[in-house]
Amino acid sequence: MQKTHSPSLLTVPDSSGYYGPYGGRFAPESLMEALLQLEVEYNKALQDPRFKEELEELLKNYAGRPTPLYYAKRLSSILGEVKVYLKREDLLHTGAHKINNTLGQVLLARRMGKKRIVAETGAGQHGVATATACALFGLECRIYMGEVDMERQALNVTRMKMLGAEVVAVKVGQRTLKEAINEAMRDWVTHIRTTHYVLGSALGPHPYPMIVRNFQKVIGEECREQFLRQEGRLPDVAIACVGGGSNAIGFFYGFLSDPQVQLVGVEAGGKGEKLGDHAARFASGRLGILHGTKTFVLQDDDGQIALTHSVSAGLDYPAVGPEHAFLRDHSRALYTKVSDEEALEGFFLLSKTEGILPALESAHAVAYCMKICRQLPKGSIVAVNLSGRGDKDVSQVASLQQKAF
Ligand SMILES: *Cc1c(COP(=O)(O)O)cnc(C)c1O
Repeated sequence: MQKTHSPSLLTVPDSSGYYGPYGGRFAPESLMEALLQLEVEYNKALQDPRFKEELEELLKNYAGRPTPLYYAKRLSSILGEVKVYLKREDLLHTGAHKINNTLGQVLLARRMGKKRIVAETGAGQHGVATATACALFGLECRIYMGEVDMERQALNVTRMKMLGAEVVAVKVGQRTLKEAINEAMRDWVTHIRTTHYVLGSALGPHPYPMIVRNFQKVIGEECREQFLRQEGRLPDVAIACVGGGSNAIGFFYGFLSDPQVQLVGVEAGGKGEKLGDHAARFASGRLGILHGTKTFVLQDDDGQIALTHSVSAGLDYPAVGPEHAFLRDHSRALYTKVSDEEALEGFFLLSKTEGILPALESAHAVAYCMKICRQLPKGSIVAVNLSGRGDKDVSQVASLQQKAF
């Protein structure tokens, strides 16, 4: 299962934002200045011990870090003679890993003297995490969201408004995430002096994929230490779901220099293999450029961005973070997919054996864990990144099951 890899895996991206052939900074001239300013400010922040201290304090006392590494005993006993551990990002404030990134980016915005924040959101989770960080710092916050997503995720729209954010309905195209990103970027271009764009995943033009990874790598670094303390060794397999790729890259990063840990990213297999029925970029995407970065993109024969589908709104983006494409080329991480149906099985198994309702996104990682545990040698240790909690998904799961809950 394991292959050797070069230490250069830890040194990407290069100064132009490339992860091998992936990534880069494909942006209009009008955005370049802001992207360069962000990179300069980020590098300055890294040298400033007060920045690190303030972020660590917020992560600890506001967001709830470190999150536990939990040995799921009943789940493990059902899956065979293995030990399954859950990294509990679901216990963070606002219910998912996204707050790790929004707190960091809002601190950067403040350093740049920017008092206005724009962001996009699909399912609403990143919008809620951004609105939360803005409320905390008293920043003006505008969230772009597709009209279709606003209907599907009405609860999150209400949450964002209660937190003081303005939610703008995007009514063009498919009226979902892709269009919301375009609108957020357009807003940013026109208000570049006063505004910072808080991007929600390890995507977009350089330096975003790097910055988001670095704000999320606390997951993997913490988890590595916890394994050494709790088990005296590292896991054999580490599994995370991959939407844009931020929770997975943050989780993987802590184990990149440990080739004995097999890293597995799980994409949304949706309801079938037909283009439009899934979001498995590695299974059927091709190299392309979307929202400023070169990576695997789901597209039709003419290069038009394809529609996507997943039972979990957080996984149905047509492109994948460039660093994942790079790790895949180097065989450092394996990418696979599970279907909507399998994800639902994972959702129920974890709920009923451990009393933990996972987000449908995270349920994809649980479902893959279910699949492989039966093939692993006795005594293997598996780590699953539980990226978020399932409260947001209960009504959807109930209606999909058509059971009386
Ligand atoms: C947004 C989200 C994801 C997908 O985003 P990544 O950037 O791939 O991590 C996964 N899980 C949860 C709970 C989310 O809210």
